[in-house]
Amino acid sequence: MTAPSNTYDVIVVGAGISGLSAAKLLKASGLDPVVLEARDRVGGRTFTVQNKEAKWVDLGGAYIGPTQNRILRLAKEYGIKTYKVNEQENLVHYVNGKSYPFKGSLPPMWNPIALMDFNNLFRTMDKMGEEIPRDAPWRAPHAEEWDKMTMQELFEKLCWTRTARRFATLFVNLIVTAEPHEVSALWLLWYVKQCGGIMRICSTTNGGQERKFVGGANQVSQCMARELGDRVKLQSPVYRIDQTGDMVVVETVDKQTYKVS
Ligand SMILES: Cc1cc2nc3c(=O)[nH]c(=O)nc-3n(C[C@H](O)[C@H](O)[C@H](O)COP(=O)(O)OP(=O)(O)OC[C@H]3O[C@@H](n4cnc5c(N)ncnc54)[C@H](O)[C@@H]3O)c2cc1C
Repeated sequence: MTAPSNTYDVIVVGAGISGLSAAKLLKASGLDPVVLEARDRVGGRTFTVQNKEAKWVDLGGAYIGPTQNRILRLAKEYGIKTYKVNEQENLVHYVNGKSYPFKGSLPPMWNPIALMDFNNLFRTMDKMGEEIPRDAPWRAPHAEEWDKMTMQELFEKLCWTRTARRFATLFVNLIVTAEPHEVSALWLLWYVKQCGGIMRICSTTNGGQERKFVGGANQVSQCMARELGDRVKLQSPVYRIDQTGDMVVVETVDKQTYKVS
């Protein structure tokens, strides 16, 4: 049986916010894109669960704030409202089975040596970020060295105290939902720089944690997918991209073939 073949101007792999917004922009520029998504839903790492009890809850990306202007603009275009995160009540730092209430962006640190260590780490990380070009992180003077290093290795190099290392680990867990040994130092430092530095990414008021979407973050992708209509193909995991011939040929696991003219 021969698979049907479809020809487009651009094939986008992945219907997360990036893929969908790229396809939206391409379509608006008069091109003919298709988006191939492996899962049975759009949104990728944003995932809003809806149920009777909670109405809606974001299990993936949720918080947005100043500096995330593109997604804020998209939300405004679709009439998706945001609300300010409650900063009046305590936050809870949960360590070794104990809860420590606190206010502010980060849990307080009582040991002055650890505090100095932590301040030095964060200042150094922001300074390293200054060396990384936003649009071409691979051109940073130490790109190769930092990309071969994990954040765990960087913390081991820079931190003197166990407390600072523990807080630094918490920072990585919080910001990118990963462990320090899982991420490249170059990538994380670039990511934080893009968000305006460590304090801006952690802060609620005027920072990356300022707001959430009323109804959940997934709506942004759902609105874009609706606009793109049948250009978004769900349950279409791409497993092969062949760029050797005159046309780029993309194949999905269910043996559909898509071509770029
Ligand atoms: C738990 C969690 C909390 C987060 N919290 C925040 C937050 O509060 N604020 C914030 O700004 N960011 C947050 N983030 C990060 C944010 O969610 C992501 O940066 C963003 O959603 C990434 O979008 P993307 O489109 O670039 O990638 P993704 O959302 O990862 O989309 C990639 C898409 O490609 C698809 N795909 C992959 N391979 C293939 C293939 N071979 N064929 C077809 N499809 C494929 C995937 O299924 C996926 O749908 C969080 C992330 C997580 C996981």
